[in-house]
Amino acid sequence: SQAIKTKWAGKTVYFAEKVDSTNSWIKRLSKEGAEHGTLAVAEFQSAGRGRFDRKWEAPEGSSVMMTILLRPEFEPQYASMLTLVMGLAVAQAVDELGFKVSIKWPNDVVLSRKKICGILTEMGTNGTKIGYVLIGVGINVNLWEFPEEMQDKATSLAMESGQEYDRNQIIGLVMKHFEEDYERFIQTCDFENLLEEYHRILANLNQPVRVLNGADSFEGVSRGIDTKGELLVEKADGTVTKISAGEVSVRGL
Ligand code: ATP
Repeated sequence: SQAIKTKWAGKTVYFAEKVDSTNSWIKRLSKEGAEHGTLAVAEFQSAGRGRFDRKWEAPEGSSVMMTILLRPEFEPQYASMLTLVMGLAVAQAVDELGFKVSIKWPNDVVLSRKKICGILTEMGTNGTKIGYVLIGVGINVNLWEFPEEMQDKATSLAMESGQEYDRNQIIGLVMKHFEEDYERFIQTCDFENLLEEYHRILANLNQPVRVLNGADSFEGVSRGIDTKGELLVEKADGTVTKISAGEVSVRGL
């Protein structure tokens, strides 16, 4: 595809009109030997997924729905950090289109506090080694009527700007930024090289937030992420709690 000018990210692209989910599809391709950087793109997902088995919904042709397959050499414990690397890449791509975008740690990208992108990372191991990492990305691009329960939580690029976008251009921009960020990430297997850029785009930095973990919740001030990608939340008594991605949701207050 002519839109993607990268060394490996999205060099091979599979395209489908309709799949169950791009993550499930590329998982099957990975078992047939698809290589690092292979990208699966679909016009429609009949069973798009979010975290905790939640649904990701988008009408046909409305959005970017894609999953990249990675075969990192590093230890499995680092794989979940790639969610944050992809969040950064999507935010940088949207930033490059001229939006005031922010990252809602750990896995969403937002415009005016409404979600325009969700990210779902999954991993398979061979013994103690990584077999594959899949990073699924849904970006709301063009106009559609969101279901009632999503209307105050979701938006799209077109809804915010009144303009339609070429989805292939967006895919190309995300792949460009992801490849650069990933290469910086694997130098240290942490966020040392990406911290400053991440904090530039992070929502609620030094602002009050509520951390929700099932029925439990607490409030504090977000102090951004540490080099492991954990969110630092300072409570009123000055103690700082580290929150790891995967378990929680964080809301601005
Ligand atoms: P939270 O916003 O509560 O932190 P989350 O980050 O865990 O949620 P995900 O699991 O990544 O969310 O995504 C699933 C959720 O996203 C669904 O529960 C639904 O509310 C919402 N959603 C589904 N489709 C879309 C879409 N196209 N655009 C925006 N939000 C969507």
